Amino acid sequence: MKRPTKIKVINFDFTIEWYHRGIENGASKFGWTDICKQEIYISDDLNPLKTADTLMHELLHALNWVFDIEDDTKEESVARRLSSGLLAIWRDNPELFQYLQWLLFAEQKKEEALGFCSPNLKPGDWVSLTVPLPTKIT
Ligand SMILES: [Zn+2]
Repeated sequence: MKRPTKIKVINFDFTIEWYHRGIENGASKFGWTDICKQEIYISDDLNPLKTADTLMHELLHALNWVFDIEDDTKEESVARRLSSGLLAIWRDNPELFQYLQWLLFAEQKKEEALGFCSPNLKPGDWVSLTVPLPTKIT
């Protein structure tokens, strides 16, 4: 899957830079966020789980800044714990996040479909109310 390079964090556009930190060179950071430039740096040589954890961690730093949460002494600890915790919940409950995604885009899908969704239908069961085109009368 293609790595994201631009994301929106609330109303702010962030760039994601994938860099080669070189584990063999002893670099100490898997990623960091430059709030002034609204750039997130993620090492490109991490395994998938560590990449996800690092990206989520940096997103939490970005959210901390966007929401003006001033908690410098605990920010690193909170970001580390919440990123790992959220990803563990996601990994153990993938259907939960599919459901959340469905909820987040339900109204948009409803508008796009120009249809309706019965309460008895499941996610993805959108019914389109397309009107058949009139047949040509000759
Ligand atoms: Zn951090």
